[in-house]
Amino acid sequence: MSFVNMQLAPSILKAIAECGYTTPTPIQKQAIPMAMTGRDLIASAQTGTGKTAAFILPALHLLNTQSTANGKGPRILVLTPTRELADQVTQAARKYGKHQRLRSTTILGGMPYREQLKALSQPIDLVVATPGRLNDHLERGRINLSRLELLVLDEADRMLDMGFIEDVEKIAARAPSDRQTLLFSATLDARIEKLARGILNDPEMVLIAGKEVNSDSIEQRLLVADNLVHKNSMLQHLADDKSVTKAIVFSATKRDADGIAGELRSLGHAAAALHGDMNQSARNRTIADMRKGKIKLLVATDVAARGLDVSGISHVINFDMPRFAEDYVHRIGRTGRAGSSGIAISFVSNSEIDCLKRIESYIGRSIPHHIIPGLEPVQPLRKTAEKRKMRGQGGSEGKARRFSSSQPKNYRGDSNRKTGNASAGEKGPARRKDPIVEYRSSGSGQASGRAR
Ligand code: AMP
Repeated sequence: MSFVNMQLAPSILKAIAECGYTTPTPIQKQAIPMAMTGRDLIASAQTGTGKTAAFILPALHLLNTQSTANGKGPRILVLTPTRELADQVTQAARKYGKHQRLRSTTILGGMPYREQLKALSQPIDLVVATPGRLNDHLERGRINLSRLELLVLDEADRMLDMGFIEDVEKIAARAPSDRQTLLFSATLDARIEKLARGILNDPEMVLIAGKEVNSDSIEQRLLVADNLVHKNSMLQHLADDKSVTKAIVFSATKRDADGIAGELRSLGHAAAALHGDMNQSARNRTIADMRKGKIKLLVATDVAARGLDVSGISHVINFDMPRFAEDYVHRIGRTGRAGSSGIAISFVSNSEIDCLKRIESYIGRSIPHHIIPGLEPVQPLRKTAEKRKMRGQGGSEGKARRFSSSQPKNYRGDSNRKTGNASAGEKGPARRKDPIVEYRSSGSGQASGRAR
């Protein structure tokens, strides 16, 4: 099925053609025709599958009909778990809706109220919002949902993870009962079913198998990291490795992406950061440089790397583990594309065990442990997270500087060294009197396998 056969308004088809989309993705092929019938829908689809267009295109099509209800509230409401995703959805709506009249706004938590109140005082077609702030406006009577025809829950599983369930349920309860509801989620489990039972009406199901990792083309490896210093040393080792020809390094925050890229550059590597604080032209330039091979190591955040399609990525390195399992699958899918093979290496510290467990249960297998000779971890990975320690550890790891100028170029496990804490680790090696050469790893290249 092509876009043209989907009965979408000509203005939408024109915008899609301008985006260069020739064929609908699998989720679009299934979800758009179903959504156009007006039925409720549950769709399991990951980020990167084209799911945004799968709900935005039918939403924009709906705006080509006249509203029969009075009032100025939105006809379409999209709820998303994060600000980044809300921004992305709004941008997508504006891109696909550029040839039609579209009055849209984004309502985000943590942002000033003034602009939001102004936007909500005008007649509006589409609101993209995070649930907490939207519910806040609803309770204060600043938004009226009586005109709502379509409610979209994007990444519903994440909204549940982030504790938004009550807000989502309250918002749905204030919308007309004959509205249409589309629920998108990377995972479909009992919680989602419960949410759907309360909010959706006899939904159709669309299941897109997206979570399978292509095990033939992507080799997954896990490197246990004692702390941040250890992670830095392993990253430096991989950056020096000749077989790492083009890599994406994933960091948890934008600041870390800048810090890691800067440090890699100072060590003589062709590295650059890619994150949401960069303007679009800087991002495009960076991606173009990566494609041309001018950049070997791209240090990115999840949001910035979404949809990133650069061929020939030899390695994906998870400097920090993603909090959400679907992000792991999305990250490692940047390599091993179009018939080539790739290696995905994850640095996992004891503070990241919960993430690892979630990922392994999501992908249905455990990730084989590897070591870099000379950079072996001092402490084994715990079986489960130690909650009390974890809080402190996770925090210091998040806030500590990614690279310390006083740290040695390489890292060697040292039983006298304090471990399990990033700042302790940073101090440990710096206090040592040993010459730097002693920290040098003995491996010639790739991390070697070690059965567990
Ligand atoms: P999403 O899963 O919505 O985050 O989309 C991932 C990326 O796929 C975005 O960059 C979209 O611009 C792109 N995309 C969406 N639909 C199509 C399509 N039919 N053909 C090519 N690219 C698409």
